[in-house]
Order: sequence, then C-alpha cells, then structure tokens
Amino acid sequence: MADPLSPDRGYFGKFGGAYLPEILVATFRSLEAAFAAAQADPGFWREYEALLAEYSCRPTPLTFCENLTRDCGGARIFVKREDLNHTGAHKANNVLGQGLLVRRMGKKRVIAETGAGQHGVATATMAAKFGFECTVYMGEVDVERQSPNVFWMERLGARVVSVKDGSRILKDAINEAFRDWAANMDSTHYVLGTACGPHPFPAMVAYFQSIVGKEVRRQVLERTGRLPKRVYACVGGGSNALGVFSAFLADQTVELVGVEAGGRGLHTHKHAARLASADASLGVAQGYRTYFLQDADGQMHETHSVAAGLDYIGVSPILAHLRDQGRVRFESATDDEVVAALARTVQREGLIPALESAHAFAQAFKEAPQLSPDDVIVINQSGRGDKDIFTVADAFGDPLWRDFIRRKAASYASKP
Ligand SMILES: *Cc1c(COP(=O)(O)O)cnc(C)c1O
Repeated sequence: MADPLSPDRGYFGKFGGAYLPEILVATFRSLEAAFAAAQADPGFWREYEALLAEYSCRPTPLTFCENLTRDCGGARIFVKREDLNHTGAHKANNVLGQGLLVRRMGKKRVIAETGAGQHGVATATMAAKFGFECTVYMGEVDVERQSPNVFWMERLGARVVSVKDGSRILKDAINEAFRDWAANMDSTHYVLGTACGPHPFPAMVAYFQSIVGKEVRRQVLERTGRLPKRVYACVGGGSNALGVFSAFLADQTVELVGVEAGGRGLHTHKHAARLASADASLGVAQGYRTYFLQDADGQMHETHSVAAGLDYIGVSPILAHLRDQGRVRFESATDDEVVAALARTVQREGLIPALESAHAFAQAFKEAPQLSPDDVIVINQSGRGDKDIFTVADAFGDPLWRDFIRRKAASYASKP
C-alpha cells in the first residue's frame, strides 16, 4: 500500500495540490527539494529529535487518567501531553522542524500568519533561538483580541504587522503573508502553521508532527502491552491529529477519531465542522484543494468556535483523503460540551487542556463508557489551557473573575 502521508505529485487522492501564482513556483520547487533531501538524510531526524528533547521537553509523557477512567466506567483513558511542549502546544514541533530546514536552506528571515496568536508566538520563539529575522502578519481584529500574544511576539523580537484589509482576520493575514513571500523569496521562508496550504506544506507539517504518534505508539505498548482501541484528536487545520494518527494508520484495529468544532450546534451553521457536517464542499482556495465551508458561489462562510484554533474554513487535504477512504472517523463537539469536558478534566485530573484539545476529551467521554475495561483509548492533549482564561471565565459565568479579567483585557487592548 502507498504511504498515506506521501503525496502522489502533490495530491492525496483528489485533495491537495499546489495552486500557485507563477512567481512562487520556483520557491516551492526549492522548498520541496530541501524537504526531500532532509527526509532522505537520517541525520536530519536525529538532529530534530535532539533539538526537541533539549528545548521542548520531548518525549512528552503519556498520562493515565485514573479518576476519569473510573467516572466513565469503560475504557482505560490515557492522555498524550503535548501541552508540555515549550510555548504550550504541539505547534512547537512543526515550527522547530521548519527552523532546522530554514537553516539548511541558508535563509535568514521567516514570516508567519497567525489568528489566535499561538503560532505567531511559537514562530517568534523559534526565530529568536535560530537568530532569524521574523515578521508575523495578523488581522487587526485579532491583534486587538490577542494582545498578550502580540506583547510576547514583540518582546521575542518579531515585527507584528496588523492587517487592515478585508475582514481584518486570519484569511486577510494569509493573503498579506503570501504577498511578502512573493516579494522576498530569496531571503525568506514562510512558516505555515498547520497541515494545510499548497504542497509540500501538508506533507511537511505532518512529517514533523509524526513524532507525536511515534512516541504514543511506543509508550502505550510499553504501558499496556496493547495497541489502543481508539485515538482521539481535535481538528483545526489537522496537524496535531495527523501527528498522533500517523503511527497507527496501518493498524486496522485502531480507530482514529477526529473531532471538529461543533460551535453552537451543526443545525445552526455556526460551527467549523468541515468533515463532520454536510455544510462544506470541495473547492480550491489559499493554494490547495480540500473541503471548505463555502456557499455555491465559493463565498466562504463565517465559522464559529469557542476555540480560536479550530475556527478555520479549510482542512488538511490529508485528512480529507483519509475520511474519504474511511480510515478516520469525524465527529464534532459543541461549545457547551467542550466547556463541560474542560471543567470535568480540570476538576477530576488536575489537567488543564486547551479549549481546542477539550473537543477530543468531550468526544472520548461520550464513547468511553461503551467500551470495555480491557480497551485503551488515547486522547491527544494538543495544548494547555492557560491561554483561554478570558473565555473560560466567561463560560463558567463566575462574575467576580469575569469582571476582573474583562477590565484587565480592556486595559491591554487600549495600549497603543
Ligand atoms: C492551533 C491549535 C490547534 C489546531 O491546529 P491543528 O493543526 O488542527 O492541530 C489545536 N490545539 C491547540 C492547542 C492549538 O494551539
């Protein structure tokens, strides 16, 4: 069988590709060549693992959740702790891997776009470590919403450009980043944050994130002597899901479950479920072919999720292909289910998952009681929840904290 993570001329089945302006074609060719050379060099993966061990706490632990297991009364629940990475999420894996590749290519400047700010902070951190110049594009609306992340990006030495075009959100920042790249191809690498975009980005990001699945497979066999019955991961662009799923693709007994943002409920159309709802359709945008939340004229829908990192119109072409092949099952969890799952995890295990990750917990809690105590399930905790303090205080409706935090947030936002 062909390796499901290796594209055939840039395509995963009918998804993927590289729909590029002429001016960027040569840059993508050289990136593809540099990535292929790195993949073929066994020293490169060793260098990558050593960097992550020293700088980002890898291998991250696999934690047994005794209390949640007892409460659910079914499968034994294990959690993969990607929240313990430097900067608080699995994003560090991809960004540090691309950093090594940039150094190999001899480039000295990186750019990125960011919505919630997490990928911007991770990229600015990597740039500080490697000594690269760094520019981060961010929609003006997001700059205001995410001022603490803007603060840290600037302290880390990045230039944050507030994009005032269009709706002033993530998609406008993406357009601006591509414009910068086209003007500065020779010096600059665009650090894409998830397994989306034109080839070779989906394959490249999945390759770096595959470190997560490799560790989980080894750890779960060591701990339990068996493969998991099911593996759960939240799906924004798809990188943490592909990371943890990739090591199990060939194990037909392991069910892989991707959990998308159900937002206010699929029937409200205020969600970001591209693969778990009937609201998305096949299209080409932002340089690649996948399912997008769009209407018949290709106008993109407004998406909604309590978790900023899942609120995206497209999805990894690799996951779209795995869904069509029946290898990955897709579900969704609503904002309310996610907040409840978060509260339960915090109170019962003392773990604080990101709201994104809490989608995977919510789905696992629905299913674990139907499984047997002989079964093992793994939930990928893609990131830590400290960043969600404003949203969670709001959702829990704690008036004292909510007002305190609101005042603080307003005072951040009013700073020039
Ligand atoms: C960015 C982010 C995600 C979503 O991105 P994927 O590419 O789908 O993994 C999920 N969880 C956390 C904590 C994030 O920061």
